[in-house]
Amino acid sequence: MEKKVAVVAIGGNSLIKDKAHQSCQDQYQAAKETAKHIVSMIEDGWEVVVGHGNGPQVGFLLQKAELAEKMIGLAVSPLDVCGAQSQGQIGYMLAQNLQNELQRQGIRKPVACVLEQTVVDKKDPAFTNPTKPIGGFMTEDEAKAKVASEGWTVVEDAGRGWRRVVASPLPQEIVELDAIKMLIQSGIVTISIGGGGIPVVRNADGDLEGVAAVIDKDFGNSLLARQLNADLLLISTAVEKVALSFGTPEQRWLDKMTLAEAKTLLEEGKHFKSGSMAPKIQACIWFLEAGGKQAIITNPENIGRALKGERGTLITA
Ligand code: ADP
Ligand code: MG
Repeated sequence: MEKKVAVVAIGGNSLIKDKAHQSCQDQYQAAKETAKHIVSMIEDGWEVVVGHGNGPQVGFLLQKAELAEKMIGLAVSPLDVCGAQSQGQIGYMLAQNLQNELQRQGIRKPVACVLEQTVVDKKDPAFTNPTKPIGGFMTEDEAKAKVASEGWTVVEDAGRGWRRVVASPLPQEIVELDAIKMLIQSGIVTISIGGGGIPVVRNADGDLEGVAAVIDKDFGNSLLARQLNADLLLISTAVEKVALSFGTPEQRWLDKMTLAEAKTLLEEGKHFKSGSMAPKIQACIWFLEAGGKQAIITNPENIGRALKGERGTLITA
């Protein structure tokens, strides 16, 4: 029997529910709930690759490192290394929860987490115009000193202080693609594409090299879904459905849309907020344009019902 392959991209809310629940225990609990819903998919016969966001976690790691540098002179880990650390800690929580839930359900299926690097183009226009704030707030003097010593780009953030900004380039290549393919073909539940991947570039010798950037996790997971020829891209986030005119009196929840409709609505600009829903819709569009059959956007608790067409927003080719 043909395997059905799904790429499931889980959002920040599968780990951090709100500001009051940011501890490791809270994240573990949230991951446990999401793991239950992913295991139900596995029970229904899906081979699943789980991708995840890492924004707050990378932010925490970087702020801890910056404080430790100020206080005791420890060297700050570069952003790509923080990305790798976040894949390790989040991957651990997801893997253990998936293993525990599979065992509770009596399903014998291995779980593996793949540390994953995503190649971006050095010439991506995002590098000439970095926009993603990262790390802690600084005074103007601290910020200017970092510009001089580290070559950072910094911006003044609405009167709250100065922050470093980095590029968010488009993902081009998944370095561990063949490894992920082999795992999925062997029936191994795979966790990968954490935070869109550790951003790397190819240098003049063709070698891989870490780069200070962040990759959109929805774009990274869309690229994986395309390269695996997955049957489904499922984006799990904090809302059950996608809305039109989100946050306005005209707001209307959508059960489904076609690829053509999604493209028109995205172009209209007023429906999906940039930085949150717009990249998810774009990720689904790229997947369907490349031959994908269906994409679903819903929240963790409705994954099962969304797969039966009862909840969530379905986007079809
Ligand atoms: P994630 O961590 O899952 O990537 P984001 O916060 O980036 O989550 O994106 C999901 C959020 O997008 C929703 O919780 C919602 O507040 C917001 N959003 C923006 N536009 C829309 C829309 N048109 N329909 C539904 N949600 C939207
Ligand atoms: Mg997001």
